[in-house]
Amino acid sequence: MRYCKNCGLLQAPDAVQCPQCGAVLPPEPPAPSPAAPHYEGAHPVEQPDEGLSFGATLGALLLFAIPVAGFILSLVWSFGATRNPARRTLAQAYLVRTLIVAVLFAMLTLVFAITAYLMVTPARFYY
Ligand SMILES: [Zn+2]
Repeated sequence: MRYCKNCGLLQAPDAVQCPQCGAVLPPEPPAPSPAAPHYEGAHPVEQPDEGLSFGATLGALLLFAIPVAGFILSLVWSFGATRNPARRTLAQAYLVRTLIVAVLFAMLTLVFAITAYLMVTPARFYY
């Protein structure tokens, strides 16, 4: 709703000029309360239940446990291939966990390899 600043007549939302006094109307102002945006009707698509049941969580974890396919699945779900936000969060958490485990495993392997190398080749330093 907006009114003509000149004569106070109620204007149509798309009116460019006041039909009564002819004053040029400013464009439609933005939403009255931009501080608290609420997105009603922003998701007209049917929303699956927000949460994830115990069975669904367990099923997802079991799928993630599959060596290569599980990692790919957690990657795919993390980047939004699921409409359930809870499942996406779960996939992201699992993905982070997998990366942490991978980094730790790589570091341990590296430490072990260096140790083994140093143990196997000490003669190299004594000619
Ligand atoms: Zn007017």
